Amino acid sequence: MTGATPGPVDLFSDTHTIPDAGMRRAMAEAEVGDEQLGEDPTTAALERRVSEMLGTEAAVLLPTGSMCNKVGVASLTRPGDAVVVDSMAHVLRFEGGGPAVLSGVVFEPIATTLGHFTPEQFLAVANVGSVYQSRTSLVCLEQTHNFAGGTVWPLARYRAVCDTAREFGAAVFTDGARLFNAVAASGIPAAEWAAPVDALWVDCSKAVGAPGGAVLAGSAEVVERATRFKYLFGGAMRQSGVLAAAALYGLDHNVPRLAEDHRRAADLAAGLASAGCDVQVPETNMVFFDPSPAGCAADRFVAEMGRRGVRTSTAAGRVRAVTHVGVDDEGIAAAVAAAEDLLRSES
Ligand SMILES: *Cc1c(COP(=O)(O)O)cnc(C)c1O
Repeated sequence: MTGATPGPVDLFSDTHTIPDAGMRRAMAEAEVGDEQLGEDPTTAALERRVSEMLGTEAAVLLPTGSMCNKVGVASLTRPGDAVVVDSMAHVLRFEGGGPAVLSGVVFEPIATTLGHFTPEQFLAVANVGSVYQSRTSLVCLEQTHNFAGGTVWPLARYRAVCDTAREFGAAVFTDGARLFNAVAASGIPAAEWAAPVDALWVDCSKAVGAPGGAVLAGSAEVVERATRFKYLFGGAMRQSGVLAAAALYGLDHNVPRLAEDHRRAADLAAGLASAGCDVQVPETNMVFFDPSPAGCAADRFVAEMGRRGVRTSTAAGRVRAVTHVGVDDEGIAAAVAAAEDLLRSES
């Protein structure tokens, strides 16, 4: 079984990966124990593995990446603080206002086109705080940036923002839901993206291809605080080694092949551009495009492609298509053929 997807071509998200036979075997054979008591050896092995990859002192497994964002914000702020983010950041837009509810923070969004901002843009909104003003205590970066198009922060700019934030007295937290895609695209090791930040996390359910889980990493002190919030928010588990085994398998088998997904995203982008769409050049595994120059609105495109067996979605007025281990070259060719067929009939 090679990553069969529910639809014929599922470009909805890289969360739509189906565990293959090897991953299922690893899960079935996982050595497990009570994770809440620190007795699950496979979970401990995954936490060690990720903290080694990222060069951090410690790491902790959480049920989801969204919980990592909530736990990270809780660990690095006080109620009433301000958190600087890009205006389309997942932690701000797509988590039900969780950090506002759970940590009492306000967000200070910066409008960007590619999801990354400059030290000057940070300083323009940062505030030392006063009796009536929020103190800027945290900056959240997203690598790759999902809704800006799967874009990669350039390392120099990433480091410059981290240095500036630190000088200012704010902590830095990276939402690395797709950090491994950034590593594959940039050739810059994960540890280099981890070094300048206080904490970061990687998702097990995207590039890694596991059914769930995410690992938050940082200094021993930050991970200890994060572990407290993991329990406080209800994220402690029991035999989580079943999930950890899937992630360990995915790190070995799925992460090393990510360049293939990026190449297929480029192929898809080229096909869509030839068919008349306005396509943002993909940097990783996401293709964002506007089909309206070819005579079809984004929501209609998604519905019509769905009828032709290709699943995509809309995001802020554009279409988003995401490649992953469950999409092969034939899938890309079929998606391009379906788009050509649709757009011919529309124009
Ligand atoms: C998917 C995603 C999340 C949430 O991760 P889950 O594991 O699905 O909860 C957070 N941030 C970004 C940028 C994402 O793309």
